[in-house]
Amino acid sequence: MTESRPSDHQPSTRSIPVVACDSLVREYTRGTGSRFFRSADAPVVRALDGVSISIDSGEFVGIAGPSGSGKSTLLHLLAGLDTPTEGTVTLGGDDISDLSERARARIRRDRVGIVFQRFHLLPSLSALSNVALPLVELGWSKARRHDRAETLLSKVGLSDRMSHRPGTLSGGEQQRVAIARALATEPALVIADEPTGELDSKTSARVLDLLESVADNCAVVLASHDQQALDATERRIQLQDGEVIHDSHG
Ligand code: ADP
Repeated sequence: MTESRPSDHQPSTRSIPVVACDSLVREYTRGTGSRFFRSADAPVVRALDGVSISIDSGEFVGIAGPSGSGKSTLLHLLAGLDTPTEGTVTLGGDDISDLSERARARIRRDRVGIVFQRFHLLPSLSALSNVALPLVELGWSKARRHDRAETLLSKVGLSDRMSHRPGTLSGGEQQRVAIARALATEPALVIADEPTGELDSKTSARVLDLLESVADNCAVVLASHDQQALDATERRIQLQDGEVIHDSHG
């Protein structure tokens, strides 16, 4: 009699998505930005209305939609920067929807890299120190932090700019430093909100190529209303009035 091996009869297990959300709703009360202090007659804006998506490692995803369609709100919720009014967000299978700000901050630190439109680099620090900064919180030694920052800055093509401060770098160079910084902790998820919004099209193309290559090792989710940025992504999710109206993988 032939013995069966465990793998012979097991259903194929789908890998856990890097990030997923289910029936996500986010409402804002006009004027307060808060869902906790509502008066009965304060107008409520439903920025997201039942969004469900799932994103795997290796995906380079573009969130498209006109201004006000909910792109930033969705990115903030996926990154754990904010919590939903209803619905759930899971990062690596862990539900982060109801966690305290402190618990979410720890998860962000360990698992999420964020790239902003306006770079958000510290102007008084060199490119190297900006990239090494997230590793201070992880308790890495200075030598190890600098080694990692050097490797990342070389990867983004800035090995000759490591000691430069942000103010002496071009916009494209600053965004590449910001991408290197976002990768410092080897996050499973990289979130980029209008990452090419301040860049000309040639510089944008280089930043987008870089983000595409970053997605080889994690999931990259980019929000933009710039067609060039969206064309660079492999999967597009279109939002309108807080709802997903098209998902190219859907
Ligand atoms: P997008 O990024 O696509 O421009 P947003 O997510 O910024 O869209 O906004 C979606 C909707 O939520 C818009 O109607 C916007 O005015 C509203 N909104 C966003 N943030 C707040 C806030 N803090 N307070 C009140 N309304 C907000």
